[in-house]
Amino acid sequence: MKAVLLREHGGTEVLEYTDVETPQPGPGEVLVDLKAAALNRLDIWVRDGWPGIKLEYPHILGADGAGLVAESGAEVSGVQSGDRVAINPDLWCGRCVYCAAGQDNLCDSWRLLGESARGTYAQYLVVPERNLLPLPDTVGFETAAAASLVYLTAWHSLITRGKLRAGDRVLVVGAGGGVNSACIQIAHLAGAQVYVVGSDAAKLEQAESLGADELIDRSKEDWSKAIFKLTRRRGVDVVVDNVGAETFFHSIRAARKGGRILTVGNTSGPKFELDNRYLFGKHLTIIGSSMGPHTDFLTVMGLVFEDKLTPVIDSTFPLAEARAAQRKLESDDFFGKIVLLP
Ligand code: ZN
Repeated sequence: MKAVLLREHGGTEVLEYTDVETPQPGPGEVLVDLKAAALNRLDIWVRDGWPGIKLEYPHILGADGAGLVAESGAEVSGVQSGDRVAINPDLWCGRCVYCAAGQDNLCDSWRLLGESARGTYAQYLVVPERNLLPLPDTVGFETAAAASLVYLTAWHSLITRGKLRAGDRVLVVGAGGGVNSACIQIAHLAGAQVYVVGSDAAKLEQAESLGADELIDRSKEDWSKAIFKLTRRRGVDVVVDNVGAETFFHSIRAARKGGRILTVGNTSGPKFELDNRYLFGKHLTIIGSSMGPHTDFLTVMGLVFEDKLTPVIDSTFPLAEARAAQRKLESDDFFGKIVLLP
C-alpha cells in the first residue's frame, strides 16, 4: 500500500510518500480501506518530536480516518466488507480498572493512532473492531474524519467533564484551531452564551458563523477586562483555554467566582506561573482532560451524523501531498480541518 512514512523527527522533509507492506488484521481486528484522513496539530508535534517520545520506525502519522471495511480478522462479527465506517482514534485494552469503569481514555495501556500506534496517513489501517462506528450514506468520509478527534476532545471537556449547561456563559480563548471551533459549536448547541477571543477580525467572523454570540478582538482590547464589562462584572461560568502560557492568567481573571477552567492542551507552551490567591479566593476549578471515552465518541459522532454539529473543512489534498498539507497547517492560514484523501 501507499503510505506517508516517518523515519526520523524533523520538518516536512522527513515525510516520505512510498510503498509499505499492507497490515493484516489479527483476531478481533479489521482492515480499513481509508478514504479520508484529517490532520491535527498533534501530527506536527509528533513529527517534530518531544523529549521522551518513542516511535517505532517507520512511523505513520494521523489520528483521524474514515473508510470502508476491506477485510476482517477472526472473531469479527459486527462488520462486513464494504461497510462504511468512522474510526475512534483511541486504543484501549478493555480489561484494566479504568476500562472497566467506562473511562477507556484513561486506560493503563492507552494509545492513540498516529502517536503511539501507526496512524491514518495511509491507504489501509488495522484497528480493533470496537473502534469502528457505522457511517451513514449521507455523511461524507471527509466529514467523519474531520470530526473524530476534535469533537471527541471538545465534547468530553465541555460536556462530560465541564458539565456545561444551557444558559452558562462560556468563553473560548482562540478562534482558529480545530478543538476550539468544535467547542464553539458544541457550546452553542448546548444552549450556552458563547464568548470568543480571537486574534483578528476574519477568524472572529468565522467564529460567529459557528455560533459565537460575543466577539472580542484581542489585538484591540484587554480581553479579560472586556469579559468583565460584557458580563456586568461577573465573569464567565466556564473558560476553555487550550492556549496555555500566553493566556492562562487572563483566563483565571475572566472566570466568575466558582467558575471552571477547562484545558485539553497548550498551543503557546506548557509551563506558566499561577497566582494561587485567585484559585482559592475565587473558588475556581481547573479541569484537564485528553480525548474522551468511547461512549462520548458515540454521542458526539451521532450529532455529527444528524448534522447538528458540522466540521468545517478548509481544504483537501491527495495523500501524496502530505507535505504540502502539513505546511498549510503550520502556516496558520486556514480555518477548519485539512484532510488527506488516500
Ligand atoms: Zn484499559
